[in-house]
Amino acid sequence: MTDNYVLDIITEDGDVYSYDLSINLDGMKLDVYDNKSQQFLYPSYDQIKSLLSTEGFYGLYETNAPRAELTYSTMTIPAQVSNSQWVYTLADGSEMDKSIQNAVNPANASIMLNPDFPISIYTEKVPQQLSLKVFSGQDLIREEIIEQDQFMPSLFDGQLRYEVKCTWGKSNDLAPFGTSTLTFYGNMDIEPELKMDKSKATAGDVVVLEIFNVNEGQTPKINQTLSKDLKIWKADDRYFAFLAMNYWAKPGEYNLELEVTGTDKTYKKSYPLVIESKAFNKQYLTVDKKVEANTRNDAAYEEYAKYFTPVRDTSVGEKLWEGPFIKPVEGRISTEFGEMRYVNGALTSYRHSGIDIAAPADTQIVAPNHGVVVLSQNLILTGETIVIDHGYGIFSVYFHMNRRDVSLDESVSKGQAIGTVGSTGFSTGPHLHWTMSHYKTNLSPWLFMERELIDFE
Ligand SMILES: [Zn+2]
Repeated sequence: MTDNYVLDIITEDGDVYSYDLSINLDGMKLDVYDNKSQQFLYPSYDQIKSLLSTEGFYGLYETNAPRAELTYSTMTIPAQVSNSQWVYTLADGSEMDKSIQNAVNPANASIMLNPDFPISIYTEKVPQQLSLKVFSGQDLIREEIIEQDQFMPSLFDGQLRYEVKCTWGKSNDLAPFGTSTLTFYGNMDIEPELKMDKSKATAGDVVVLEIFNVNEGQTPKINQTLSKDLKIWKADDRYFAFLAMNYWAKPGEYNLELEVTGTDKTYKKSYPLVIESKAFNKQYLTVDKKVEANTRNDAAYEEYAKYFTPVRDTSVGEKLWEGPFIKPVEGRISTEFGEMRYVNGALTSYRHSGIDIAAPADTQIVAPNHGVVVLSQNLILTGETIVIDHGYGIFSVYFHMNRRDVSLDESVSKGQAIGTVGSTGFSTGPHLHWTMSHYKTNLSPWLFMERELIDFE
């Protein structure tokens, strides 16, 4: 590229010397035409370099990083240069270094984005590389090289900081090089969404519900008829709940309705859930009439209602358990969860609330997971009894023990001995009765051993 200048040199005496300069920086060519003598002059190479490196000729150089612009749909994104490092070399070989740091205020550099439209980048000069960094607060959540001068916004309910870095490399000795980073804040409002860990369940099952994209100031609710003790917890970036169905849940097609209220808009969306039928075994039990009379009476029920029943009303709002639950004692399963029981020929009004594991008296029982002991006492009906709160409404219960080795409010860890197998209370022989529940909704303990119900670390 050739630039043309008129250079007037005015002496102290007022004499004017006028020259036409034609400069080609790439070829390091300088043509000087002396208007007075009307002839071309031929300055030396050093004279050229020296002259072109004086401040009056800085206009010849790219003293700033090339401009870049971001567009989204038909709009220009109000992105700002947050950082720029620019190096250009003068004709005499001296390097000029220009650095810009600029704090970008979200108030002046925000835009509402739609997940379906790309963001395009236009630059004054083709960069060697374009790269992207996306931050949520201080956390870098995305980093990549941008291909084809465009990228899709991140799917995120809320505000993210986008940094687009343009890098221009050094193509020859005199070529300027450096980087320029454009920063803007992209906002997105994604509709709240309910995710279920399964779409079909059975009686005694638990469905893990997770609710995403609930904004600050909004409250999620789940309208449903399957569980009385559904409680919504908040953890990390989501809300979650355990939909626990006891053995009475009727097969059929149900709808869970997610309702999110607050701010200016109410969201409502229905999600189908199928409850499939499940057959529970019938069990016929003969219990010594004397044992039955001693352990199943008004005093026993009254005591049970007073001490045992309220213990599972409240749970600690944090996840104490870690990983799948382990079996508290090894042995034959003598009664499965949910079995219908006939005792001495009469159908009992309750279903079997847990599993019975037969084991020799005094076999050690361990805590199946971490938790806090919320009941440890002798009860007429259930004998030596322990209840552990594992957090977020998940409880484990132990009946008929010979010995209790942990006391109320004690923290226990997975695998820790909590007592021994016995046959205390309403029992026909040494076994552990183990119940798992969500609050007072008894659930199949097997569900807890297969996998971890929820993990949000
Ligand atoms: Zn039992």
